[in-house]
Amino acid sequence: MMSRKGVLAVISGFSGAGKGTIVKELIKRYPEYALSVSMTTRDPRVGEEHGREYFFVSDEEFEELIKNDGLMEHAGYCKHYYGTPRKFVEDKLAQGQDVILEIEMQGALQVKEKYPQALLLFVTPPSAEELEKRLRGRGTETEEVIRQRLARSYEETQYIDKYDFLLINDDLDTCVELTHGIIEAAHDNVCRNAEFVNSIKTQLEVYK
Ligand code: 5GP
Repeated sequence: MMSRKGVLAVISGFSGAGKGTIVKELIKRYPEYALSVSMTTRDPRVGEEHGREYFFVSDEEFEELIKNDGLMEHAGYCKHYYGTPRKFVEDKLAQGQDVILEIEMQGALQVKEKYPQALLLFVTPPSAEELEKRLRGRGTETEEVIRQRLARSYEETQYIDKYDFLLINDDLDTCVELTHGIIEAAHDNVCRNAEFVNSIKTQLEVYK
């Protein structure tokens, strides 16, 4: 069997679009996906745990990691740093596992530049009104932060066309299955199809 690499699937979306919920549900239904745990300099929210939602670090620790090329990508988002530790992702991909990154847009575009084969998916709610409602409904952010995040969403609309797929999240179940289907198709494209081509080539060799 030929060696195969996993698919690097990057999921972004407006803050409040529900991408966190989609990703959580995806991992629950399909535990074979490897989920990258990011690093951030923001404070943990109630219920968040170091090493589970994020690795919560200081500015100094984060900057040290950038210097040592320990991050695959990083970005500033609403006054804090966020970044993807490189080693975990590269190890899992090399083992043939599909890896999910749930990251914001600047980071996603950095990933696409460095790994053009990465699959970029963007999640949006069906309307701006719904976005604002979901953001407020979380009850975790101050009014100022909500405004910053909505303004950021507006800026992000300019770059959505750089993504490979758009997911309109009006139904969680549909969105989760669609996401899984897209990643599976990409996986087949890079892995199983290559194996199949090799195999049928060998079978057809007798006719050449
Ligand atoms: P939150 O503070 O709500 O957890 O995350 C804020 C934003 O940062 C979200 O859009 C989230 O997807 C993004 N984010 C989380 N981890 C990373 C990361 O490692 N890199 C980048 N570029 N963005 C991230």
